[in-house]
Amino acid sequence: MNLIVRYGAYPFVLASGIALHYLLLENHFGVQFRTYLPVIVGAVMVTGLEWKYPYRQQWWADKQEMVQDAMYMALIQGVLPKLLAVAATFTLSQALYAQHLIVEGWWPTHWPVPLQMLFMMVVADGLRYWLHRWAHEWDPLWRFHAVHHSPHKLYWLNVGRFHPIDKGLQVFLDTLPFLFLGVREEVLGLYVVCYAINGFFQHCNVDLRLGMLNYLISGPELHRWHHSMVKQESNHNYGNNLIIWDRIFRTCYLPTERAVQELGLVNRRYPSAFFEQMTAPFTPGADKQTA
Ligand SMILES: [Zn+2]
Repeated sequence: MNLIVRYGAYPFVLASGIALHYLLLENHFGVQFRTYLPVIVGAVMVTGLEWKYPYRQQWWADKQEMVQDAMYMALIQGVLPKLLAVAATFTLSQALYAQHLIVEGWWPTHWPVPLQMLFMMVVADGLRYWLHRWAHEWDPLWRFHAVHHSPHKLYWLNVGRFHPIDKGLQVFLDTLPFLFLGVREEVLGLYVVCYAINGFFQHCNVDLRLGMLNYLISGPELHRWHHSMVKQESNHNYGNNLIIWDRIFRTCYLPTERAVQELGLVNRRYPSAFFEQMTAPFTPGADKQTA
């Protein structure tokens, strides 16, 4: 893998996604299309990189894992956030409007869209940082979050492996408050493009480097440690898009002299199938059994 690809892949794919988003905007495509198409193109590019430049060949997914992850992607990432967003936008916000409870004048709607998006990302990441850290440190929440930590390998498609209760809490924090504050769809669309492409890279099996961007972005080099089987390693790097909150609260961890070893939960027999994982959090200690 040459240095240009190793260091350039992340900025290039992210910039391509943003450029495509704006190209579609200029050509008057709707917000859904101009958000989802760059995300799909980003996913295809990351798939190509994983195939050509894998970080570890043993992390290539087998057919069964891919089917399970595709199921998560369709049911948890696609349907549930949409349902929650619809509920938020149409039901709750209508109720709030009716009650004159909408929060107006707090969000800087006069700022340029990219600046609003960055502001949203910093605030949303701050909220998500504490949810994520809490999910690792408080057992009732950890049981649901453990589903996301169950795979023994990382590749982009398993970014979608979340229990719906865990995912629901995330959407509650990183989408709903901004809808109530009146953040416009142009900002949300750009945010989703960056959020999704970064998420693919964060979990990708590509031997790339982020260099100085590791001080700002929560990318794959940092996130692999977050999926370590060793708790002292995995209770770090909680950042969703950015690593700044981990830097502020001193939970950033990136050893340079060694690579991460085993990934996943200490219970190596934790169920991996979709429907079994839906009920596993209701069995106390399921993630901890080592026998
Ligand atoms: Zn986690």
